[in-house]
Amino acid sequence: MKEIPCLAIVVPCYKEEAVLHETHKRLSQLLDQLIEEKQIASDSYVLYVNDGSTDQTWPIIQDLYQHESYACGLNLAGNVGHQNALMAGLDLVKDYCDIAVSIDADLQDDILVIAEMVRRYKEGYDIVYGVRKERKTDTWFKRETAQAFYRLMNMMGVKTVYNHADYRLMSKRALQHLARFRERNLFLRGLVPLIGYQTTCVYYNRSKRWAGESKYPLKKMLDFAIDGITSFSVKPVRMIFWLGCVFILIGIGVTIWTLYTHYIHDTVPGWASLIISIWLVGGFILAALGIVGEYIGKIYIEVKDRPRYNIERTLMRKDA
Ligand code: UDP
Ligand code: MG
Repeated sequence: MKEIPCLAIVVPCYKEEAVLHETHKRLSQLLDQLIEEKQIASDSYVLYVNDGSTDQTWPIIQDLYQHESYACGLNLAGNVGHQNALMAGLDLVKDYCDIAVSIDADLQDDILVIAEMVRRYKEGYDIVYGVRKERKTDTWFKRETAQAFYRLMNMMGVKTVYNHADYRLMSKRALQHLARFRERNLFLRGLVPLIGYQTTCVYYNRSKRWAGESKYPLKKMLDFAIDGITSFSVKPVRMIFWLGCVFILIGIGVTIWTLYTHYIHDTVPGWASLIISIWLVGGFILAALGIVGEYIGKIYIEVKDRPRYNIERTLMRKDA
């Protein structure tokens, strides 16, 4: 760990022409201050990743690069979405910094806690999560849907940090390990906790977007949630298997009841065999689907080719 680390701030930008100038003004003021206090190295910088915007975002980034200090740019050839854009930025900076902080272009997350994140890094933490204290500025709907999302993720067994979005600090070695996850369906909030190392949280209040519009309408949020669950959990498949078992049990009950009714009271011909087949066959089909699903789940995990472990330190004797 370096005493005075080089900090890279990575900012994914999609159609952010309305906020970029102000964002850079605020971020460079912060960097000025941190460099002056000798918290971070003087070659620290901000990397703006243009995620295939069709507005003036890239020309503005080019302009910032030419005329302002600290600004760097990365232009993606097309729109690949927030998570991929952020990953592109983190992948690039991992070779050119000691620590990286990722933050949204609208600076809804309080940038003043970056200083605290850096302090935490110096205390020995490799990953520092920015966690929202409250969600007063979000609408009721956004707050409730977000909370339901965290609960659902937990139920499905995906480990995420509650109320943490993609505002976090990562050390160089954490970034290097993150780059070893080669999967395409990116859900960084679920991946970062898999890296390991010492982690901690810093807390802040989230403010409103001061200009421009949210790029996360309901449909994108839903897609994101489905991606998050299906990229990390095979529980839905297992649920199908158990549902099949429940159906078979009900089927056995229904069989007994149907046979009883059939022999005691006279029923319409064909009714008993029909009812029994519907329940039993339905149950067997569901259970079989669950079993096939388990195998597909295994293939899916293998195909992801995630790293099996991350070594923090080795203590080896050369002559051993
Ligand atoms: N973003 C991106 N690509 C996209 C959509 C969004 O890079 O396809 C960026 C956007 O520019 C912003 C961040 O992702 O920096 C978060 O978006 P936003 O602030 O609109 O989301 P919200 O805060 O409303 O959840
Ligand atoms: Mg935002």
